[in-house]
Amino acid sequence: MAFSQPLPKSLSPSRLADFQACPRRYQHASIERIPQPATYATAKGRFVHYVFENLFLLPADERTIERTREFVAPAIDTVLDEQVRSDLSLDEAMLEKMLGETHEIIDAYFAMEDPRAIASEGVELRLGVTVNDTRLFGILDRLDRDADGNLVIVDYKTGALPNRNFDSQTFANAELYALLCQAKLGETPSKIRLLYVSHGESVERNVTDVVIQARSNAATNAWKKIQRFYDDGDFPATPSTNSCRFCAFKDICRKNGVPVPFR
Ligand code: SF4
Repeated sequence: MAFSQPLPKSLSPSRLADFQACPRRYQHASIERIPQPATYATAKGRFVHYVFENLFLLPADERTIERTREFVAPAIDTVLDEQVRSDLSLDEAMLEKMLGETHEIIDAYFAMEDPRAIASEGVELRLGVTVNDTRLFGILDRLDRDADGNLVIVDYKTGALPNRNFDSQTFANAELYALLCQAKLGETPSKIRLLYVSHGESVERNVTDVVIQARSNAATNAWKKIQRFYDDGDFPATPSTNSCRFCAFKDICRKNGVPVPFR
């Protein structure tokens, strides 16, 4: 079956993760562009990102906890639009829960770092580069400059903490952002910081050229496969407990006879 929709022009870290988890998910999300309804978790993630993005658009000396809380009310209108409200069946109780959890996250964040002391190079940075004929594009939460003058990639996480052994996927997206920084800005970040703001904890990893090269190779190889599957008109489904658990396309897959392991 040939696709009537065009192949996307670029590959983002999150779409690469989709493809690596299950090529069929990439097909549904990126080729067929089947809408993925918002969930409480995705809406809360966008809500919290909105607050922290606006915090770092303030001059450094104004980044207080009081100013941060001022961005919560505007986030209601900006993030929780009609579609999201409908997807969530948002009612007063759910909104109160989200607002309460957001204020707890703000408290936890301010216990982790003082944003007035952060030298931010930018937030929501849109970086696009072509590496080995593969067009990569990503939006970076935050790029800092540390006390030694090195770039640091910062990614906010509102989900669960990774386990102690951090699997290779924990830093995968951020390592691809490091490749984007290297290729676009001509400077390699020295470190990645993942801020698990719901838990007030961060995990860090140094960036090495070996890792960047490995991520570059993985993205290039994935893009070649994507082009091949697109030409074939079929992206194989690779159902598994991990990949299917939070996938929005379970019902479609079941209708197509894919043995999805969740009800
Ligand atoms: S439900 Fe499972 S098999 Fe189907 S697209 Fe999602 S991850 Fe792939």
